[in-house]
Amino acid sequence: MRFHALSVAAVLALALVVPAPAVAAGQPAGPAFSVSVAAAPQPAAAQTLPRHRYEALRKTSLRSSPSKGTIVAVVARGKELSSTGRTSGKYVQLSRAGKTGWAASTDIRRAIVAKYQTSSAIPLYASACSTRQLAKVPADYTLGTRTNARSNGRVKVEYAGKSGWIRSSRVAKVSLGVPIGKLGWKASAAKNIAKWCKGVPLSVGANKPNMAEASGRIGHMNELITLDTSGFGGKKLDPNHPMAVAVQYHECAHILQYRTYKYDFAKLDRRMDAVYGKPRVADGAEHMADCMAVAMGAKLTGSEYDPGSGNTLTWWAGYGGKCSSHHLAAARKVIAGQQV
Ligand SMILES: [Zn+2]
Repeated sequence: MRFHALSVAAVLALALVVPAPAVAAGQPAGPAFSVSVAAAPQPAAAQTLPRHRYEALRKTSLRSSPSKGTIVAVVARGKELSSTGRTSGKYVQLSRAGKTGWAASTDIRRAIVAKYQTSSAIPLYASACSTRQLAKVPADYTLGTRTNARSNGRVKVEYAGKSGWIRSSRVAKVSLGVPIGKLGWKASAAKNIAKWCKGVPLSVGANKPNMAEASGRIGHMNELITLDTSGFGGKKLDPNHPMAVAVQYHECAHILQYRTYKYDFAKLDRRMDAVYGKPRVADGAEHMADCMAVAMGAKLTGSEYDPGSGNTLTWWAGYGGKCSSHHLAAARKVIAGQQV
């Protein structure tokens, strides 16, 4: 068994007060015109519409005929139904579990037909072309759409009880089984390292040590990444904060080191020390995990204005020391599974 612990430090820069930068909310304007298509005249009697999935807004009875008739089935709130395509006035013919009957359109609404996930905070626009923003959808948020309507590079979605439009290029489609709402800390971290460490189990929690471990025997190694969710001043760390991401990448880098050196930890240490050279401010394996994190896209330090305190917060992740071009070239090889 082997652990690599990573320390992170956050330091408040005293007496350095930087005003918050003004953020321009500039959004490219939509097209100067929009086209509407007139609906075809509707027949007065029962009509046939595309079949859609619906959900019951409340406990709903399906009846043998529109508005009256005997009750064929009772559907609990939230349960899904399929339309047969027939409607009559404000009644819709639906089926569920082999039973078919009519329900008032006010008792149902279209079901979620697709889900999308944000990776950063994005605006929810009032329409397909409008620059007016109804809300800001947070990062790592899973949204549903009841229509999957698309226009002008945007898709219509539901967020916090509002219907609005988001840019399709800013979201990834996810399976219908993903729950609507914000991803948990662990799911966000797993998403951040999925490119390199997909499937490695994560254990996360406040004040847990940041570490990567591998135990077992060759061919049956159990890998585990443990991550600390604690942030500055006792607050929970945003799993997408660059410092959190740097730690996630660093621990994932250890897993890649273990794999590249086939869990021969003595050889790994020897080779990483040799690549690092002298003088060293940390173990070669630690420094190289930092440089691998940089090669993956991590930032090891940053500053940010804290509107709460009026101070600028400076943070560092990792063990210090510089990643030379030689270190970074070696880091990229180890990430690719090549021993150096
Ligand atoms: Zn480490």
